[in-house]
Amino acid sequence: MTTNRQIILAEMPQGRLTPASFRLAEAPVPAPADGEVLVKARYISLDAANRAWMQGVTYRSALQAGQVMAGGSLAEVVESRSPGLAPGDLVFADIGWQEYGTAPGKHLARLPAMAPLTYLLSVYGVTGLTAYFGLLEVGKPKAGETVVVSAAAGAVGSLVGQIAKLKGCRVVGIAGGAQKCAWIKDALGFDEAVDYKAGGVRRALREACPDGVSVYFDNVGGDVFEAALFNMANHGRIVCCGAVSAYDDVPPPHGPRGVPGLIVTKRLRVEGFVVMDFYAARDAALAELHGWVESGQLKVVEDVIDGLENLPVALIGLLAGENRGKRMVKVD
Ligand code: NAP
Repeated sequence: MTTNRQIILAEMPQGRLTPASFRLAEAPVPAPADGEVLVKARYISLDAANRAWMQGVTYRSALQAGQVMAGGSLAEVVESRSPGLAPGDLVFADIGWQEYGTAPGKHLARLPAMAPLTYLLSVYGVTGLTAYFGLLEVGKPKAGETVVVSAAAGAVGSLVGQIAKLKGCRVVGIAGGAQKCAWIKDALGFDEAVDYKAGGVRRALREACPDGVSVYFDNVGGDVFEAALFNMANHGRIVCCGAVSAYDDVPPPHGPRGVPGLIVTKRLRVEGFVVMDFYAARDAALAELHGWVESGQLKVVEDVIDGLENLPVALIGLLAGENRGKRMVKVD
């Protein structure tokens, strides 16, 4: 344990993200100050939002060229100068794309050891909680209603659709390509799927949702948002979770059209959220997620890539839709 391999955001992307924005570097392993712990990353989370953080200030400060690329890790404490944490403890740490990092112990919560460990980043991590709270607390679906979710084969979307089914809803997923569409129906139990890459999304959604959409869980924004908007039922709810269609596009796509008028005439509620807003209720959410996973009612789909050096291509691939379920990188 002498060197710390890191992925540096070498330059801000101009246009679509490419590997040229990143470089691999080596630095000394940092020493924890009083009150801090030194952690080693085991799995680094890949999130669509990683790309959005390069566009400017979001719910976190904007990334700058020359910094270690930002990102969250499932990490193991290797040295502790903080009471309550000891070597071997597992934590979720915001240390970026590197093998080792330090963090104040008071900001870290010890996670339970479990098999597979990766569930701590997927269904029991930000991904699962985002799907859970966004759908149930913001969307508030009722049994029998039609729920539509975009990026439906991805990490958040694959869970949103399954949770909506567990709550007795009819579920339509929007995903890219015929294979993903078949998969969300056959493997995850969605009722219908719409391939946005085939075009005609607005019409396809109308056919898939003849009674209109009661809850649209939006992960992508842009044209897909617009297609959903025109298909909303009166008093429908649009859960604004993210806008991945705009993260890697410069300039961002036009649209959506029809926003003010349709929101009024259909009496829609459009609400954004950030998962952290709901963390006070985290234990109850995790307990319900755990019950569904243990009983086999909720399938957890993960896409694990090996090697810290593969983080840049793993993110680029996520934005291109290579993944099914939660993508992460295993750090040796
Ligand atoms: P993900 O869904 O696993 O991966 C992103 C997916 O987006 C890709 O697999 C791709 O699937 C789809 N996609 C890419 N470009 C697209 C486009 N132009 N139009 C439509 N779909 C496109 O990623 P994730 O990390 O779980 O994130 C999903 C969403 O949740 C993101 O918007 C993210 O920002 C949001 N999020 C929000 C919160 C919060 O607190 N609000 C927390 C976590 C995540 P296809 O093959 O189907 O194109």
